[in-house]
Amino acid sequence: MPIAHNYLRTTVRPAHIVANYKLLCGFGGHVLAVVKADAYGHGLIETAGALAEAGCDAFAIGSVAEGAALRDAGSKAAIVSLLGPVLTEDDLLALEKDVIPFVHDFGQLERLAAVAARRGKKAKVSLKFDTGMARLGFTEADVPRLLSRLSGLPSIEPVMVSSHLATADDPTAFDYVSSQGARFARICQALRHGGLTFEASLCNSAGILAHAADYGFEARRAGIALYGVNPFQGTDREHLGQGLLPAMETVTRIVSVHDLPRGASISYGRTFIAERDMRVAIVAAGYADAYSRGLSNKGFLCLSGRRVPILGRVCMQLTAVDVSGLEPAPGDVIHLLGGEGPGAVTADELALWWETIPYEVFCLFGLNQREYL
Ligand SMILES: *Cc1c(COP(=O)(O)O)cnc(C)c1O
Repeated sequence: MPIAHNYLRTTVRPAHIVANYKLLCGFGGHVLAVVKADAYGHGLIETAGALAEAGCDAFAIGSVAEGAALRDAGSKAAIVSLLGPVLTEDDLLALEKDVIPFVHDFGQLERLAAVAARRGKKAKVSLKFDTGMARLGFTEADVPRLLSRLSGLPSIEPVMVSSHLATADDPTAFDYVSSQGARFARICQALRHGGLTFEASLCNSAGILAHAADYGFEARRAGIALYGVNPFQGTDREHLGQGLLPAMETVTRIVSVHDLPRGASISYGRTFIAERDMRVAIVAAGYADAYSRGLSNKGFLCLSGRRVPILGRVCMQLTAVDVSGLEPAPGDVIHLLGGEGPGAVTADELALWWETIPYEVFCLFGLNQREYL
């Protein structure tokens, strides 16, 4: 359910997501499009639909239920659930909707095997290994026990073996990628030696762009780069993510424009005092619209191609900006994300002011009503 009855509109360009997908496919391997969390706020069905039309045959989603939603929308692609079954009802749903869950422990494996056996079906799974995130997954030490248990579970079909990189986007921590990559390679080798056949998958977006030559393996999971963010923006490896196109913009409307004389304060708590006579616009966006209060006195919007700074606290549904020298009118469009010319606000910049990452900006702005170009 999008945030209702407000003035924010998030515009998504599926053609740019498709162009980014093609760019990432250029690094080789089998690219799974990560469309979890409603395609990072870009819309699951619309995004997956555009990618499928462009030839994408595999998607990674979050919960099993999200995968089921994609299947129910008519997708014929392979669908992998990164979260895997959390509740027992997820086991049956994965089986019925042909969703391949990440499986990270023996308990999940036993439950899924029992459900599949009872229905005379095979449950495809992606075995998830912890190689350094310390979040979820079997460990390297589990391999012998895992192989022996799998040999007694004919209703389980491991089609993928996966792990996740902790530092792929940090050029100062590429050593850690190497240690994870080496451990993952050993795990895959031991599993193959034990008779399993599968696609191995380690890389996320940053992994594809920076590490595919060494640790690409067969399948790669592309998320943030699909949505136009260069994971190396602002680092000495920025060139690795060249050519990615942003796919989301968010606008709202100006409610009112008025003067703020020198010495006057604006908004709650009087955290901003005008040092000169100013012209301010009151904008219809606030934290109820997923526009963070953390942007108070820090963020910028883009009005007619120009950067306009936020003045004082961001309120629940209103924010004040300095529009001195401009003469906007109530009802005019103003960009929270994107915009025309050099004043356009990028997801990276917004995330910096917001003290977060572009992933969160997209997930939150995607909660607003969306339009597609
Ligand atoms: C979200 C996610 C990805 C995609 O990561 P990006 O950095 O967005 O490319 C890949 N693998 C797993 C397990 C994930 O949860």
